[in-house]
Amino acid sequence: MFKKILIANRGEIALRVQRACRDLGIKNVVVHSEADREAKYVKLADESVCIGPAASSASYLNIPAIISAAEVTDAEAIHPGYGFLSENADFAERVEKSGFVFIGPRPETIRMMGDKVNAKQAMQKAGVPCVPGSDGALSPDAEEIVRIARRIGYPIIIKAAGGGGGRGMRAVHTEAALKNAVSLTRAEAEAAFGNPAVYLEKFLENPRHIEVQILADEHKNAVYLGERDCSMQRRHQKIMEEAPAPEISPRQRARIGERCVEACKRIGYRGVGTFEFLYENGEFYFIEMNTRIQVEHPVTEMITGIDMVQEQIRIAAGERLSHRQREIEQRGHAIECRINAEDPFNFTPSPGTITTWHPPGGPGIRVDSHVYQGYTVPPNYDSLIGKIIAYGANREQAIRRMRIALSEMAVGGISTNIPLHQELLLDNRVIKGGISIHYLEQKLALQKKREATG
Ligand code: ADP
Repeated sequence: MFKKILIANRGEIALRVQRACRDLGIKNVVVHSEADREAKYVKLADESVCIGPAASSASYLNIPAIISAAEVTDAEAIHPGYGFLSENADFAERVEKSGFVFIGPRPETIRMMGDKVNAKQAMQKAGVPCVPGSDGALSPDAEEIVRIARRIGYPIIIKAAGGGGGRGMRAVHTEAALKNAVSLTRAEAEAAFGNPAVYLEKFLENPRHIEVQILADEHKNAVYLGERDCSMQRRHQKIMEEAPAPEISPRQRARIGERCVEACKRIGYRGVGTFEFLYENGEFYFIEMNTRIQVEHPVTEMITGIDMVQEQIRIAAGERLSHRQREIEQRGHAIECRINAEDPFNFTPSPGTITTWHPPGGPGIRVDSHVYQGYTVPPNYDSLIGKIIAYGANREQAIRRMRIALSEMAVGGISTNIPLHQELLLDNRVIKGGISIHYLEQKLALQKKREATG
């Protein structure tokens, strides 16, 4: 096992990884920007290194600075967290070439999955069901694009091969709008991801977002830890997640889980990974794979009892998986609410100093957060300031406990989206379970209309 790990991230996930290191008896080095000097996990770290100014491009995305920090502190491995460099194949390569272990998949795997066209092709080959669409990236031939779109059938969605973070996608409902939409998406993809390749997919009108968590080691073992429902989204960004997904039968779970495990074995996958699917009319359709730990991993941890970050570190150290498939049980239900520093209804970011911070507690409540009273949320990064996870014997209890937790929680000095979560947990459709990915935006649009008409 490693003696020292460098954590190349910030915020709640830096603290989460630090806790996993402590539990495993591994020393941790935290790198941070000038804006994160006062973060609690920086003070708690065994060692910390300032790697640059607030701007991510000069700090959390500064590869040479991170590698130098690992060198001067004698760290053996680097944990990338999520976001930032976590799915950057060049970073993973540089880490390994510099003699450190990258806590994640091999660079080639990250590169393949980072290109959604290649990822989809690999999954199709491995027998994972995919959204019907073009065979690979579109050629420049406009007539051919029209033919492909007709074959798929409208509505369709144009997606950037290099897209991520909910960007680089455009739905098209009619042939008349197609050509222009393809050019626009291409131009945006080129500007945002440096890759103009785009492809077509059937636009699913009312799907749910259901994803399957897997773990795989270097010794050809792979297991699935069940699924999560992440359909509560705004602008393709998740805000509330749960496990298991409502109304998914044990048989469906096993079937899709086994497919994912099989695919991992075929591509020689290593580490934690998530297969994201859209789910409609009882069918799963693969959309992409995330080759890193995800924000919503705690809901899976709560129902399986498996510490996924520790597993991730063990796998990177070359160990075998701690569990066989038949030993993995999903028990109870867990929900996560992402707490963002933003206006709960118009979503403008709300950085600033937190004057009051009373996190909730009690049975089944877990709070993953790096903030504290007196902490200043910097304006430079993502607005996530923490996550509340509620566990219950069943979904009803998890919802009840989450409602109590949110009502106990008091945050002052900044705005948070807690009121939105509270409202959602009183919504009959949400309580019933199984909403589609469009539910939240439709609800918000309806509210806006009502307000406008008084
Ligand atoms: P990203 O890498 O940017 O997260 P994804 O491919 O994972 O992109 O898609 C993000 C979200 O976009 C999905 O959760 C879903 O809300 C929507 N989406 C993607 N593909 C489709 C599709 N074929 N039909 C309808 N919605 C889609």
